[in-house]
Amino acid sequence: MAARGNLFIVSAPSGAGKSSLLSALLKDAPADMQVSVSHTTRSPRPGEVDGQHYHFVSIEQFKALIADEAFFEWAEVFGNFYGTSRRVIEDTLARGIDVFLDIDWQGAQQVKALMPEAIGVFILPPSKAELERRLTGRGQDSSEVIAARMAQAVSEMSHYDEYDFIIVNDEFEQALADLRVIIGSQRLTRASQCHTHNDMLDDLLAD
Ligand code: GDP
Ligand code: ADP
Ligand code: 5GP
Repeated sequence: MAARGNLFIVSAPSGAGKSSLLSALLKDAPADMQVSVSHTTRSPRPGEVDGQHYHFVSIEQFKALIADEAFFEWAEVFGNFYGTSRRVIEDTLARGIDVFLDIDWQGAQQVKALMPEAIGVFILPPSKAELERRLTGRGQDSSEVIAARMAQAVSEMSHYDEYDFIIVNDEFEQALADLRVIIGSQRLTRASQCHTHNDMLDDLLAD
């Protein structure tokens, strides 16, 4: 049986620390994990690199990709379109690599419907005040964008109960450790172990 990676969905209200946690997790470029690079019609923030943080596309290009059925899921978030490439997800999982989707709750619902074995992780900030401090402190969005994202935060957070795991990102290193525990335990489930050790199990159980 071919190795198959696990699919992790990571969602949070904007500013809770998803991107920081995922970039810390993948800092040393582990060979067995990859974050999916989404397509978006949002403008790049200062320092964001096309192809690395997002594939930045026009609305016309995005609509053409929808028509080509190139997306595994897509959604409109904060007035921009975001979508996950179907081919990249399928190819990467088939190579036995765990894939992380940094997507909103609408995308998470679509992915869970298509792939119920996907593992949902929701990141919560310790308080609303801290969330606002982080959005402001990131210093990359205008005050209008920050106000809009704060206004959306409660409705986004209300979806926390659609996820398998919850991480409270209060102390960053603890939240990162929690994320690593979730990944590690998922690799030890019977389903994952049966994929990984299929031949060994056959040998052990042969008469
Ligand atoms: P960049 O990695 O220098 O581009 O910084 P970003 O603005 O992308 O912020 C993400 C980084 O900040 C991650 O790599 C995290 O390691 C780090 N980070 C954010 N918050 C904390 C924190 O509270 N504690 C620690 N130790 N690191 C943090
Ligand atoms: P998201 O991707 O969820 O929108 P970011 O990862 O960009 O959020 O985090 C928002 C801001 O909060 C960043 O400036 C980041 O450095 C900061 N941050 C993330 N986690 C923590 C934490 N545990 N404590 C303090 N600041 C944090
Ligand atoms: P940001 O503009 O802060 O990078 O992202 C805004 C929101 O869009 C976040 O909630 C993020 O998880 C979500 N998002 C990013 N990429 C995708 C995607 O490919 N699909 C969906 N559904 N949401 C995404």
